[in-house]
Amino acid sequence: MAQTTSRASKTKRTTQTENQIYDSIRHAVLTQKLPSGARLPELTLSEIYGVNRSVVRRALVRLSGDHIILMRRNQSAVVAHPTREETAQLFDARRHVEAQVMRKTAGQLSASARAEIESMVAAEHQTHDEGHHDDRIHLSLHFHERLADACPNQVLAQILQELILRTSITVALYKVPGMAACYRAEDHRGIADAIFDGDGERAAQRACEHLDYLEQRLTHARNDAEVDLSSILNS
Ligand SMILES: [Zn+2]
Repeated sequence: MAQTTSRASKTKRTTQTENQIYDSIRHAVLTQKLPSGARLPELTLSEIYGVNRSVVRRALVRLSGDHIILMRRNQSAVVAHPTREETAQLFDARRHVEAQVMRKTAGQLSASARAEIESMVAAEHQTHDEGHHDDRIHLSLHFHERLADACPNQVLAQILQELILRTSITVALYKVPGMAACYRAEDHRGIADAIFDGDGERAAQRACEHLDYLEQRLTHARNDAEVDLSSILNS
């Protein structure tokens, strides 16, 4: 019995560490601490987190499934570095899907969803004004995810959720230095107001303009500087 309990608690611990590795690498990429192409050696990660390589590998497989990193045969995984063509296709796909989700979601929000989105937009402005950029980046992501969540067609919503994460990763990897990712003061406000007003066409148009604005500001400059994984992932 004691053995079963200890095995169960060990499994729980390794799952927690796997989630922690996944979350910290995802966060470091989204907040521009890990650049495109940065190497992620299993051995280094297993030393940083004090776990064996199989736990690290499971986290890397999930990150790869979400297109945050690339796994390579017989070489270290690296942070994703989508090509210009892949980036163009990704934004094109997101414009189509998000526009349709906006049309279907407009006028469909419950009072509590509406209040939640209002407070997200307010928190986003506040974190931007106060210079808490990491928090704002996550709030910007949640804004789009929350609207997708409210879509009556959950199949479309799930497709959009994947595209939101992939485009956000791409923006983080390639945005012009100094540009606040996914942020132009009135963009989210304008999308939210159109959704609240039940004007699906205007919400779709606002969402597409927002994505155009982000896409036009991407640069595909490569940053091949060596990174110190330990200080980035432990911060
Ligand atoms: Zn946005």
